[in-house]
Amino acid sequence: MPELPEMETYRQQLTRLIIGVPITGIVVTRPKSLNVDPEVFAKKLIGNRVVRMERRAKHLLFHLATGEILLLHLMLGGWMFFGTQEEQPDRTFQVDIQFGVNRLCFIGLRLGYLHVHTPEAAYTLLQKLGPEPLELSFIQFQNVLRPKRGILKVTLVDQTFLSGIGNCYSDEICFEAGLLPLRKISTLTGNEQLQLYQAMQALLREAIAVGGYMEEPLFVGDRLTGQYNPKCRVYDRKDEPCLRCGRSIIQIEVSSRKCFYCTYCQK
Ligand SMILES: [Zn+2]
Repeated sequence: MPELPEMETYRQQLTRLIIGVPITGIVVTRPKSLNVDPEVFAKKLIGNRVVRMERRAKHLLFHLATGEILLLHLMLGGWMFFGTQEEQPDRTFQVDIQFGVNRLCFIGLRLGYLHVHTPEAAYTLLQKLGPEPLELSFIQFQNVLRPKRGILKVTLVDQTFLSGIGNCYSDEICFEAGLLPLRKISTLTGNEQLQLYQAMQALLREAIAVGGYMEEPLFVGDRLTGQYNPKCRVYDRKDEPCLRCGRSIIQIEVSSRKCFYCTYCQK
């Protein structure tokens, strides 16, 4: 599932591709992905333009010239591709937005959604999310950490605690911080809290800089998307050698989520 760095990569790349370009067509193959009838959706979009792209947690907000917002959440298995009809990947898409003469933005939304909202409604929906991890000071991080009693891994992926971190980066952050994902939050010392905070900042910034871990390119010739994948420290590396100590990476299940770590490097 795309997480903060993947959605930030989409935001940055789409900003260069679609801002100001008139929307000229809409295809919807799964009306349930929308919150209005496809005809209403098309009427709101055709002739409109995206004037700004914003990311909040794992959501993208397409700000339209008419003031409304398209709120996108890709969820598990979601993807996007931007290009011509000929370049269209051999995958099932649920919504396709045409920009200008012949550029199409295909959106795979098997479980995800693309909803149209007024700005007030969109920001009200996003209010329940926890703070953005990259916008927190260490003091603020300690404040959101203080009331938490759960396990580190489960807390990191809880979107009401911090928003945007999922299965991949929670494991990566724990490794970078040298902390076992099964540690109880309440047992973390002040120094370990700082290690966790610094690891989270460094790792998310690194992942954004190299386009996240999901490898499908956004457009033909996209050399950025997915460059974090070969850099993954522990995620999806079961039985492979730890990059620090060479011992095998362990995979367990925590609250029905995959969890990867090194028993030697993480305490
Ligand atoms: Zn190790």
